[in-house]
Amino acid sequence: MLACTYAEKGKFALTQKPEPVLHGPRDAVVRVTLSSICTSDLHIRSGAVPRAVPGVTVGHEFVGIVEKAGGQVKHVRPGDRVAVNVETFCGECFFCKNGWVNNCTHPEGGWSIGCRIDGGQAQFARIPLADTNLVRIPDGVSDEQALFTGDLLSTGYWAAGIANIRRGDIVLIIGGGPTGYCTALCVLLHAPARVIVCEKNAVRREFFRKHLPQAETVSPEEALPLLRRAEHGGADAVIEAAGTKESFRLAWECARPNATVVIVAMYEEAQTLPLPEMYGKNLVFKTGGVDGCDCEKIMALIAAGKLDATPLITHRFPLEQIGTAYDLFSSGREGVMKVAVIP
Ligand SMILES: [Zn+2]
Ligand SMILES: [Zn+2]
Repeated sequence: MLACTYAEKGKFALTQKPEPVLHGPRDAVVRVTLSSICTSDLHIRSGAVPRAVPGVTVGHEFVGIVEKAGGQVKHVRPGDRVAVNVETFCGECFFCKNGWVNNCTHPEGGWSIGCRIDGGQAQFARIPLADTNLVRIPDGVSDEQALFTGDLLSTGYWAAGIANIRRGDIVLIIGGGPTGYCTALCVLLHAPARVIVCEKNAVRREFFRKHLPQAETVSPEEALPLLRRAEHGGADAVIEAAGTKESFRLAWECARPNATVVIVAMYEEAQTLPLPEMYGKNLVFKTGGVDGCDCEKIMALIAAGKLDATPLITHRFPLEQIGTAYDLFSSGREGVMKVAVIP
């Protein structure tokens, strides 16, 4: 089968690989029907993800049809349409029981798919612990509607969930890319008074105005003066989804005292907390990688018409042209937000 693999630092290659097989009774094999390219894939390509294994098939956001299921798999059967969770988790360890599935202690736990084990920019993928890592797609939900369940929407849902948002709050989201968009969709479920998306790229601000007019958009230069004029001198919650030195600083600067600052961005270098400058602001920082434990709820919200991330799919490519898809996605040209890859 065809698979997009991490050849070496700086290089992905489309290669032929054998079709995956079940490794154990809790595995499933999924025939991929739609996949996407994520910014994390670019981080792997650039060598910024040390645990990514050279030779691995990349791609961790995809949907498909169960082709084979091991003897202990109970929740899905061959023929079921499924979305794949970016995180592999057992559901049984201390961390899983607390909902912290990103820290699952199973040998394949955490972000494995498309990083440490073969992922979904391919025709088939093996899914370990299939009962927790696959969510069935209901009839009436298309592959494109379901595509972002396991990664982008999981990230947005988790970030909004831990941001301590109360009705009537002002929520600032830094970064108007795909993560920012899915985060804004999920923040709106918490009924804040205002959702403000800070994005430097005017084309992306226009994308929000067109597809999510419930959110206000500002440039980075406008964000701080705007938030300073707010009733309590800043945002009640800030979600940082941009991942630069400047956006990290802007996140805590725009927060009101005692606000929650959620860092979901994946930085390629260390950031510093200038504690003397922020002394007395009494901020709560929450950091790190998504706990993708809410895929069932997300799928139900998609089916109910309450979460729709399909506008993000601005471009579509067959798997054979994934190199071109990567070029476009990494360049940001043509107003690209997300590309869907069709095996
Ligand atoms: Zn991702
Ligand atoms: Zn676990």
